[in-house]
Formats: sequence, C-alpha cells, structure tokens
Amino acid sequence: MIESRLKEYDVFIAGGAIAGPVAAKFCARQGLKTLLVERARLPREKPCSGIQFPYFEKIIGDPIPRERLCHHTLSKIEMHLPDGRVLSAGFPMLNFMRDTFDEWLCLLAQSYGAEFRDGCAFRDFEETSDGVLIHLEADTGPETIKARYVVDATGMRPIIRRKLKREEGFQKGSTGAALNYYFTADGDLEPDKLYQFWNIEYNNMMFAWVYNKTLSDGKDYWVVGTGYDKDIYQRLDGFFERVKELYHLTNVQIVKKEGYSSSMVFTDEERIWLGERNFLMVGDAAGLIDLTRGVGMDAAALSGRLAAKAIGLAQKNGRPVSEVYAQLMKGLVDQTRRNQQRGIITFKTNEELQAYLDHGMLKMGLNMILQSFLNRLRSPEKQVMLP
Ligand SMILES: Cc1cc2nc3c(=O)[nH]c(=O)nc-3n(C[C@H](O)[C@H](O)[C@H](O)COP(=O)(O)OP(=O)(O)OC[C@H]3O[C@@H](n4cnc5c(N)ncnc54)[C@H](O)[C@@H]3O)c2cc1C
Repeated sequence: MIESRLKEYDVFIAGGAIAGPVAAKFCARQGLKTLLVERARLPREKPCSGIQFPYFEKIIGDPIPRERLCHHTLSKIEMHLPDGRVLSAGFPMLNFMRDTFDEWLCLLAQSYGAEFRDGCAFRDFEETSDGVLIHLEADTGPETIKARYVVDATGMRPIIRRKLKREEGFQKGSTGAALNYYFTADGDLEPDKLYQFWNIEYNNMMFAWVYNKTLSDGKDYWVVGTGYDKDIYQRLDGFFERVKELYHLTNVQIVKKEGYSSSMVFTDEERIWLGERNFLMVGDAAGLIDLTRGVGMDAAALSGRLAAKAIGLAQKNGRPVSEVYAQLMKGLVDQTRRNQQRGIITFKTNEELQAYLDHGMLKMGLNMILQSFLNRLRSPEKQVMLP
C-alpha cells in the first residue's frame, strides 16, 4: 500500500555539485527518469579554487555561459620554485566560483529533463527485491522515493559510500586542511595569472596559491591560500606576508576566510572505490581527487558522465552496472592511482621539494602540451586529465 504511492525513478543521484549534475544531465539525456538532490539551497558556497582546464567544458558537453565565469580568465602561470627561480608560461584556464557554477550545472541537468531538488538531503537507504528505497530529508519534512540505480556524488565525506563501506578508509579527525583568504589590495599582482609558490614553509604537499576571483557581489578579489597537514593559519599568514612584500601590496583588507578539512585517508589503497551492485560512486565520493594534480573537478565531471553511460549500457545489455562502470573508468582510475601512489608526498626540506620538481618538471611540461593537444582530438569520454 505505502510502496505503491512512492515516486519511482530509474536513477537517484545525491550531491548537486560537479559529478552529480553531470551524471544527471547524461542520464536524463538518455531518457532515464532521474532525480538529483542537493542538501544545500543553491547557490551555496564551496571551498574550491574553481580553476580548470579547457577540456573540462568538453566533458560537460555544453558551453559555460560567460556570466558563470569570473571576470578574469586565467591565461598565465607564474611558478616560484624553492631555490628562488621564477618561471612563467602562458596557459589558458577556466576560472569560476563554485556557487554560481554549480548552480548553473544543476540547472543544466534540469534543462535536459532531470528532476532537481535543492534543500533536500539524502539520509538513508533500504534495499528491496526490485530497487532501493531512498529516505530523504527535504525542507518540507522526510520523504521516501524508490530508484533502480543510486549514484553517490556527495564529495569527500560521501554519505552513501560510508554506509556501504561502514566507515572503512575514513578516520574521525582531519587528515589535512586548506585555507583561503579573500582580500582587496593595491599592488603589482596581475589578475590573469595563477601564482604558484612551491616552498615547504607554505605548503608541504604541493604549492601555495594566489589568484583573482569574482564574488557574488560582482566585485573582484584576490585569493591567497594554502594546504597543510597542521598549523594551517600560521602557514598561510607567513605566506601572505611574503606575497605582500613581493607584490608591494598596500591597503590590504581581508574580506572573507574559508577553510576545508578532509577525513579521507589519502594513503589508503582502498581510497578509490567505484561502488557495488547498483550503487555507483562518482567524483570525490569515489576518491578521485588527485592531490598530485591539485584538482578534482575534471575527474568528477568525467566520472559523472561515465556513470550515466554505464547505467544506460547496463539497462540495454543487462550487464551488472558496477562492472560496466569499472570498465569505462579504467583509464581515469589507473592515472589517479598512479598519481596517488607516487605523488602524495610530504616534503621535509625545500631541497627535497626542489629535487622532486627538477626531476619531474620538464616531463610534466612536455606532457601538458602534448595531452592538451591530444585532448582536442579525443572524444569527451576519452579525455586525459592534466597535468
Ligand atoms: C580548497 C580546495 C581547492 C580546490 N581547488 C580545485 C581547483 O581549483 N580545481 C579543481 O578541479 N578542483 C579543485 N578542488 C577539488 C574539487 O573541489 C573537488 O574535486 C570537486 O568539488 C569534487 O566534486 P564532487 O561533485 O565530487 O563533490 P563536491 O563538490 O564535494 O560536492 C558534493 C555535494 O554533495 C552535497 N551533499 C553532501 N551530502 C549530501 C546529502 N546527504 N544529500 C544531498 N547532497 C549532499 C554537498 O552539499 C555538495 O554540494 C579543490 C578542493 C579544495 C578543498
């Protein structure tokens, strides 16, 4: 009796950020009845540098409207090396804020026919003989729906994955943190540059950063930020002082601070997990964030697109969806695992960091040029992540 009144979907997707709406768009495009839910009300803020490579747009499969991007496109990188050398190169990058961007992506999924609800959180599920009952908490109260396939796109604290894996691969506290200060100032910083500072005083895993962003008030701000496994405020304050000195910043006013910490164990061999049965993990929920590359939205978008393709294929040929998905994801998973295995290094000295860069930089630079070129020729589903 109760079940007959349930709304039924082919696909249920939790998480309206990158991986979720991309999966929803491509599910809906195949005619699958799709529900995408996001627990926050959109537009919502998400700590993220919001920088991506041009092929990201190709994976999404629709042009990003100009008004969803920041005023300044990033077209150059300025790298400050531990030994004091400064290298510059031209490289076009997309630059956006996640509040406006993620909202657009959810509306895009909706425009393809997916049902989208914000202010609606996934809470729990129960498996039945012919589907999965999904318990939701909407602004209006609790609800239950039914779906055949379930996609977890809830990011680095993935709620469905944690229920399936019973907390395996996670730890209670934080495994690392990132912190950004948004500020206004006069000085010599250039708004079309991504500044990278490779120095263990500021960041012991990769680089500390400075770039320009447009906030929802329509004004441009500078962002200075870093990540560290401890003493994050101290590290960022020290770095900020160096930036002020180098670029002759005056009238500095911090307007906003944002922080982020993760509970995922980065060294865990099991970090990448694509799901089981009719449950698929996408984006950060699948463990695809790649700290070696320092980015994750491209992998999130590609995994969302491939999850949708896997569901479509599984419907057609009756093969287990998790098997089809694993097959489609092989290239991306292999690349991410390789990076995770060799790249999640915390450096103890700047000499160590410099040696790491000297060894890998030329190879990385050449590979970036080659793969950027090849990505223009490759189909959206075969994109290779940079750098
Ligand atoms: C400081 C920082 C800087 C970064 N900079 C970059 C960068 O410049 N470029 C880049 O490519 N990547 C960057 N990343 C990584 C990038 O943010 C992630 O890889 C990307 O956001 C992953 O997207 P996702 O869709 O998998 O998950 P997320 O973006 O984490 O989204 C998960 C969504 O799920 C929702 N949700 C959670 N629980 C529930 C629930 N129970 N029910 C419904 N919804 C739920 C959340 O509200 C959220 O909207 C950065 C990350 C950090 C922390």
